[in-house]
Amino acid sequence: MGFLRKKRQPDAKSTKSSGQSTEKIGYNPNRTEHLFWYTEDGYLVAQDVVCQHEYVEAVGCAHCGGHLLVAAHLNRSGQGLSELVAVCDNCGARANFIFDISNDVYQNWWQEQLGALYVRQHDDPPRAPHHP
Ligand SMILES: [Zn+2]
Repeated sequence: MGFLRKKRQPDAKSTKSSGQSTEKIGYNPNRTEHLFWYTEDGYLVAQDVVCQHEYVEAVGCAHCGGHLLVAAHLNRSGQGLSELVAVCDNCGARANFIFDISNDVYQNWWQEQLGALYVRQHDDPPRAPHHP
């Protein structure tokens, strides 16, 4: 009995903490009010990975208002960009969303995620939020 109890406690603890960290994967707790603003060149400000999917799900299909499903994620980090291709589950229309990930909020968060593995992937200066 004593053995079982001892074994159970750390299990319960680790399940709880891993559950919490699963929720936080891809999510930046330090998002700012500039999330989803446009940069001067017209890209949507992303501040983590999760928000890009949130945006696509929230905006819906421009043609029928249907639900958009993310079909592909194009890595354009060399340009400080991230592109999602989505398809409407109702009418099949395609939509592209291009997010800026060069901004300081995203890059600081990304650096925290990767630690020593972090490499800045774009040469240009970070884009700044310009208008909502
Ligand atoms: Zn549609």
